[in-house]
Amino acid sequence: MKIAIYPGSFDPVTYGHLDIVERGAGLFDKLIVAVAKNPGKEPLFTVEERIEMLKESVKHLPNVEIACFQGLLVDFARSRKANAILRGLRALSDFEYEFQMASVNRKIGNIETVFMMTGNEYAYLSSSAVKEVASLGGCVKGFVPDHVVKMLVEKYKRMNIDFPE
Ligand code: ADP
Repeated sequence: MKIAIYPGSFDPVTYGHLDIVERGAGLFDKLIVAVAKNPGKEPLFTVEERIEMLKESVKHLPNVEIACFQGLLVDFARSRKANAILRGLRALSDFEYEFQMASVNRKIGNIETVFMMTGNEYAYLSSSAVKEVASLGGCVKGFVPDHVVKMLVEKYKRMNIDFPE
């Protein structure tokens, strides 16, 4: 049984992430999408909210599970008996950081990282771009699923930002 972990912040999940999840689910017997509880980052959505939006987004994919983890990714991967880490690559700018992380994880956890090129239409898409557009009242319908648009609307409404429905 080939198991992969797809880790990330998913703050919020975008169509770019979901493209990687769909394609990854076709390559592995089981794909665990893992929300990182990263104390160093100040997220817009809580871990619970990110788990909720991911679950709703992948409910049509029976071999995809949503989880969260704290601490070292390689420890979480070992605890779930994963064979590989899955990561998406967008522009060249992703490469250096990903190359470093993959090398470190292979060294400390003896685990391979598998990279998947972004879908062409999502190469420009990032969670931070989505948050920037949404926080300024722009429409993000083409970037994230409808239920995530709704959660962004709610979030920014609470922060008193006028957001188009
Ligand atoms: P992190 O904080 O770990 O970078 P992200 O949630 O931003 O978490 O991204 C998780 C993974 O998804 C990373 O491998 C990232 O490169 C990938 N990813 C993000 N956006 C896209 C996209 N538009 N197309 C392909 N991969 C993406």
